[in-house]
Amino acid sequence: MFNLENLVRDNIKSLKPYSSARDEFAGKASIFLDANENSTGTPFVFPSPIRIELNYHRYPDPKQQQLKQSIGKLKSVDEECIFLGNGSDECIDIIYKSFCDPGRDNIIICPPTYGMYEVAANIFNVEVRQALLQENFQLNLTAIEKQTDENTKIIWICSPNNPTGITIDRASIFHLLLNFEGIVVLDEAYIDFSAEPSFLQFLKEYPNLIILQTFSKAWGLAALRIGMAFASPGIIAVMNKVKPPYNISTITQEYMLKALSAEKIKEESVAEIVKTRKQLADSIKRFPFVKQVYHSDTNFLLVKVDAAKKLYHYLLEAGIVVRDRSNLALCENCLRITIGTRYENKKLIEVLTKYLT
Ligand SMILES: *Cc1c(COP(=O)(O)O)cnc(C)c1O
Repeated sequence: MFNLENLVRDNIKSLKPYSSARDEFAGKASIFLDANENSTGTPFVFPSPIRIELNYHRYPDPKQQQLKQSIGKLKSVDEECIFLGNGSDECIDIIYKSFCDPGRDNIIICPPTYGMYEVAANIFNVEVRQALLQENFQLNLTAIEKQTDENTKIIWICSPNNPTGITIDRASIFHLLLNFEGIVVLDEAYIDFSAEPSFLQFLKEYPNLIILQTFSKAWGLAALRIGMAFASPGIIAVMNKVKPPYNISTITQEYMLKALSAEKIKEESVAEIVKTRKQLADSIKRFPFVKQVYHSDTNFLLVKVDAAKKLYHYLLEAGIVVRDRSNLALCENCLRITIGTRYENKKLIEVLTKYLT
C-alpha cells in the first residue's frame, strides 16, 4: 500500500544534492584548506588563542553525528531515523519541499491547530484542505476521509494539540496510519507534558509516520532552534538530501549536547510545570467570567471567558500578555495562557481578581 517512491517529488528523486567540503572529506587531517574558511580563526570577535580553540571559524558538522547519537540514545531511536532542523518549523518546511508538488498536491489540517502547517503550505503553493476537529477537540475521521484524494500527500496531526491542549485519541491516529497511503505527520511538541506516551515506539511499524518533537518547549531551549523529525531511514534520507547543508550551528550542537546530559533537570522542570498547571487551572476556574478551563496535556491552558478581547486588553494593560485565540474555529472567546513561574502565575491571579471589581 504505502510506497515512498510514489510520494517523493520527481525533481527530489532525481536531485543531486549539494556536496559540501565536509561531506567530501570527513576524516582526520591537520590542515584544512578545503572550505574557504578563515584559517586564522575568528579575528576581532575573540582574542587569540580562544578564536582558534572555539573552532567557530570552521563549518559545523552537516550531519550532526554526535548530537544524533546522543538523541538516539535518549529516545531509543536509530540515528538513521533522526532528522534535525532549525526548529520544528524547518522540519515542516523540509517535509513540504520533499513531498509536495506546488500547484498540484494537497495536504489536510485539522483546525484549530498549529498555524505553521498552513502558512508553510501557502508559501509553497500547496493546497490546504481543512477537516475541522469535533466539538470535543478530537479528529473527525469522516471529514478527513472526505477531503482525501489521490493528490493528498500529508495529514498533519498535532497531539497534544495547540491551541486546544488535549491529546488526540490514539485509536483515530492508528486508523489514519493504517488507512492513509500518504504521510501522517504527528507533531508531538508538547509530548513531555502529557501523561500519554509518545508514538516513537511505533516508528518501525508505520512507514508513513513522521513524528516531530522540539527542544523549544519542555527543554527550555527555544532560542537555540532545534526541532527533531523521526521517521523511517528512507524518509530521513530524502529530508537530508533536501536540507541546507549546515542548518544547525556549532554553538547549538555544543549546547544541545550539554543539555541532553541534564535530562533529569528537564524532568524536574516538567513536573513542576505540570503541578502548577493544575493549581493555575483550579484558581482560574473560580472566576465568574470564566466559562471553561479545558483539560490540558501541555504547558498552557485554553480558557473560555465571556469576553476574550476585553480580558486580553485588560491583562495587557497590567503588563501580562496572553494569546487571544478567539478568531480560531471552535475557540470563540478563548485565551491561551502559558503556565508561568509560580510568581508569574500568582501575579496573573492577582490581576484577574481585580478584574472583578
Ligand atoms: C511550539 C510548537 C512547535 C515548536 O516549533 P520550533 O520551531 O521547534 O520552536 C512545533 N509545533 C507546535 C504545535 C508548537 O506549538
